[in-house]
Amino acid sequence: MKEQLLSDPVFGMAAGQFDRVADFLNLNQSVRERCKWPKRILTFSLPVHMDDGRTEVFFGYRVQHHLSRGPVKGGLRFHPKVNVGEVAALAMWMNWKCSLMGLPYGGGKGGITCDPRDLSMTEQERLTRRFAQEISPFIGPEIDVMAPDVGTNSQHMAWILDTYSTREGRFVPEVVTGKPVELQGSEGRTQATGHGVAFLATRALNKLDLPVAGATAIVQGFGNVGSYAVETMNAYGMKVQGVSDVSGAIWNDKGLDAFKLREHVAQTGGVAGFPDSEPIDPDEMLLRECDVLVPAALERVITEKNAAKLRCKILAEAANGPTTQPADAIIEERGDIFLLPDILCNAGGVTVSYFEWVQNLQRFSWSKVEVLTKLETKLNQAFENLLHFCEQNKCGTRLGALAIGVDNVARVKQTRGLFP
Ligand code: GLU
Repeated sequence: MKEQLLSDPVFGMAAGQFDRVADFLNLNQSVRERCKWPKRILTFSLPVHMDDGRTEVFFGYRVQHHLSRGPVKGGLRFHPKVNVGEVAALAMWMNWKCSLMGLPYGGGKGGITCDPRDLSMTEQERLTRRFAQEISPFIGPEIDVMAPDVGTNSQHMAWILDTYSTREGRFVPEVVTGKPVELQGSEGRTQATGHGVAFLATRALNKLDLPVAGATAIVQGFGNVGSYAVETMNAYGMKVQGVSDVSGAIWNDKGLDAFKLREHVAQTGGVAGFPDSEPIDPDEMLLRECDVLVPAALERVITEKNAAKLRCKILAEAANGPTTQPADAIIEERGDIFLLPDILCNAGGVTVSYFEWVQNLQRFSWSKVEVLTKLETKLNQAFENLLHFCEQNKCGTRLGALAIGVDNVARVKQTRGLFP
């Protein structure tokens, strides 16, 4: 299994980052080994009735990296490229993310290999419910709490809640987060990840003594995270000049409007062809000059091929794992880019998921202002702690963030001991 995982490029990247941090922290061999490998790797075959009468079998995965600090927390992804190695890598990153943010969770991630754009909503419902039914014995509010990720949203969480609650014979909203608000989802959860990305970008601008109003940005990806990052940056008076998604990339020197662009995407399925813009090459877009570059799509898009050519002042990693290790080394060597590492930059989502779970457990609800204020306080604390750690240890923010995250987990492992 170790070899199989390591042969996946995304897991290889997460494991490589871990090894570097473990060396930096001087972790002893026992704790290092226990921290690195996932606790549970679950695979499900999911037979589904398709609309045309055929039965199709999909494969779904859930990796629970650790249960040492609390229940496992993390998203469920629908994407054609999902495989067990990628899911295991994303689970490991969730682990360090929850730990870095001081949330009482281990990391988890799930995925179903499918292209949601080719599935009708009824097919997606049957697929999600089948997955929820199969995985029910292995999840629960104190075991594993899922949330939306690439290709899923609050509706998918509602189906999981309904399937799980039906099986339990009672309403269990705290089994998932990122639910619709009428099903006890939290106010502010939908925009939380993008809001956090934009908020942290302003904190980085402050540190660089650059004004927020008029600061320029480029965003790769216009899903939930990218679109709310653009919306919040617009609200801060920043100018988002370039946006891309699977349909292509668009540019407007004066800035793009999140609301109008979202409407266009709802009508046409992508950002391409947006009236107030000119089309550009998506790869070239990443290399244009800007204050803040936001990769908000998938893994491994900043590589050794483009890292030396980036012309941003801040790299705000809204996606999980967007920068490969060789690219990291180039960015560190350059020393002229302020890196907001993924496990901090996109932690707004899981932080508000934690708030949602806490509200659910208390059968209580907070207002949107309360939620977003609490979120900003938590992100700001983690940001300042990280900068302090990096200054003290003379290290970059990638290594620093991972080191804080891994160190908390390692201490817990050490203190709990090894049974038997
Ligand atoms: N899928 C999101 C992430 O990668 C959120 C996870 C959650 O809210 O549990 O951080």
